[in-house]
Amino acid sequence: MTDFDVLVIGAGSGGVRAARLMSEYGARVGIVESSDFGGTCVNLGCIPKKLFSYAAHYHEDFVDSVNYGWQLDSTPDFDWTRLIKNKNQEIHRLNNVYKDILGKNRVVCLQGKARFLSAHEISVGDSVYRASKILIATGSWPWVPPIPGHQWVITSNEAFHLENLPQSIAVVGGGYIAVEFASIFCGLGCDVSLLYRGDVILRNFDRAVGEHVYSELSKKGVVIKTGARVESIEKTDSGFSVVLNKEPSIDVDKVMYATGRRPRTADLDLSSAGVELNKKGAIAVNEHYQTNVPHIYAIGDVIGKVQLTPVAIAEAKVVAKIMALDELGTLDYDNIPTAVFCHPNIGSVGLTEDEARARYDQIRVHTSTFKCLKHTLTQTDEQTFLKVIVEKASDRVVGVHMVGPDAGEIIQGIAIALKTGATKAVFDSTVGVHPTLAEEFVTMG
Ligand code: FAD
Ligand code: NDP
Repeated sequence: MTDFDVLVIGAGSGGVRAARLMSEYGARVGIVESSDFGGTCVNLGCIPKKLFSYAAHYHEDFVDSVNYGWQLDSTPDFDWTRLIKNKNQEIHRLNNVYKDILGKNRVVCLQGKARFLSAHEISVGDSVYRASKILIATGSWPWVPPIPGHQWVITSNEAFHLENLPQSIAVVGGGYIAVEFASIFCGLGCDVSLLYRGDVILRNFDRAVGEHVYSELSKKGVVIKTGARVESIEKTDSGFSVVLNKEPSIDVDKVMYATGRRPRTADLDLSSAGVELNKKGAIAVNEHYQTNVPHIYAIGDVIGKVQLTPVAIAEAKVVAKIMALDELGTLDYDNIPTAVFCHPNIGSVGLTEDEARARYDQIRVHTSTFKCLKHTLTQTDEQTFLKVIVEKASDRVVGVHMVGPDAGEIIQGIAIALKTGATKAVFDSTVGVHPTLAEEFVTMG
């Protein structure tokens, strides 16, 4: 006798979608959540981050509006407490939406920390549940290197709940979170230093994207130090001193680390079930998300492949069919579009130029850098950057990268084109939408 056909651990992006679908397919499904329903994306990730990003962008909008005829009678004042309160309200609403969706789909919601007692038994608080199959979707958690003074730093988790907006902040890292939060804090009026250990930020993106973003963030006032390794963090009377390898220390109110996220497995007691991790500390799965224990599966950040919400959801769709219907499937990880919501945004899909050069004999690269129409009337010297990478032999577009307003929105449509195998000739024969900056994609040589 089991309590559930499938017990899902973690009610985040992946877990909620998988639980809902499996219940629709007729399975008796339970889901365990130790914190708030909706997971990282809803509570400590995509959603509050994007709300913060909107808040920060108003700063530029106020300045830009003047040349469009607007008169600002006083300098706009920003109220951090009001932003946090309104953000929390919206997230609370979303938590309930997630719970309702699960309830309406007859998924049993269990609140508490799940721990394996055996390969079929999970404890949640004082209760024990037996399930025929188990899906682990426990996500990831910020990782901070163990440098002296690491106990003083905040991560994105705390950044969403700061009581006061710091006047100055050092953000350590050069990936998604560091760059997004550098833009957010800068837009909200803080003095921001971005400290990156490498030579070009956003190392996993096309190099030209990292270089362009460096230039745009710098223009907006973010002080970016590359080759900057933090040796220690010391507490001072007014804040913290960040001691660097090669430059004078930086004194700031707060230090935020955004140095990657690790799969969240520590509390699960996986050894009781015999589930193995891979070398990177992620749950090891095959292409069907099955662990070494055949009835236990895992998806999302905890498998350490691609840490994005739509990927966790796509994996959930595949695994739900496998677990509830015995329909074996896989996910195509090529051409996953992604955006970084710094100011201006980055949108990217397909191969970087370096990756394309390594994969194909010959490629063509088309680039364009220009001032978008909006900024012809403003004082802002923001430049938009587009890059289209084409495999010469087939004329297929194999990579598109953009830094500019609404790049996150634009790249979604481009991703559909790449998924269909569109050639550059198809791009060129598509009629543009005028006047937009996206039309450059169909008019560039
Ligand atoms: P999660 O959504 O993290 O869900 C895991 C759930 O499991 C959590 O609710 C957790 O509380 C629960 N849990 C963990 N252990 C246990 C346990 N033992 N028992 C019970 N419950 C447990 N992605 C994007 O696509 N776009 C973005 O703009 C974006 N912005 C981001 C911004 C930030 C600051 C961060 C941190 C991430 C962002 N991401 C973004 C990434 C995205 O949030 C994750 O990839 C996604 O949430 C992963 O989904 P998941 O289901 O694997 O895990
Ligand atoms: P990233 O992997 O994007 O970036 C980590 C950064 O930290 C890199 O610049 C890396 O440098 C640096 N780093 C790693 N270790 C150290 C160290 N020991 N000392 C100093 N620097 C170090 O991770 P994030 O934390 O920014 O984000 C985690 C994930 O969450 C992202 O990869 C993404 O998948 C997801 N996310 C998605 C968002 C979106 O879709 N818009 C937004 C936010 C997060 P190096 O390059 O040299 O390795």
